[in-house]
Amino acid sequence: MKKCKQCDQEKSIDNFYKTIKKQDGTQSYDSTCKDCRIINKKQYQKTDQYKKYTKTYRNKNKENINKNAKDYYIKNKDTEEYKKRKSDYQKTEKSKATKKKWRESDKYIDYINTQKYKDYQKEYRKTDKYKDYQKKYNKTEKRIKAQKEYYQEHKKPLTIK
Ligand SMILES: [Zn+2]
Repeated sequence: MKKCKQCDQEKSIDNFYKTIKKQDGTQSYDSTCKDCRIINKKQYQKTDQYKKYTKTYRNKNKENINKNAKDYYIKNKDTEEYKKRKSDYQKTEKSKATKKKWRESDKYIDYINTQKYKDYQKEYRKTDKYKDYQKKYNKTEKRIKAQKEYYQEHKKPLTIK
């Protein structure tokens, strides 16, 4: 058992991180328990100092970070693990909020006007995934309503381009 200097609780040794061994070969342990370390880390991550640091770091290493992320994506995109992690993430509130924020931003408007996006859409519309989605979507109330409204206004059916 060891007493944490931060929370003052006695905890078993596996609640403390190992530190470098002493010269005589005995193992030393951190004086603060793992729980407190996590709390400290989270608090530190909220500070302006930390945010400034990560921002500077990201800016300085932008190319490397992007390259690593891209390499990782190419290497892992077809693995089950990656797909699962992605779909799990997409179900989270955080992911939905990020997506919503992105769709409402000016950058998104710029993005959908790029040739890259248009090409991507063109390819995407040829996929079975899209056709399936379209079939399901056409049966939703929202879509039926939109079709009716479009017809009343333009006197011709709404077709998907
Ligand atoms: Zn503690």
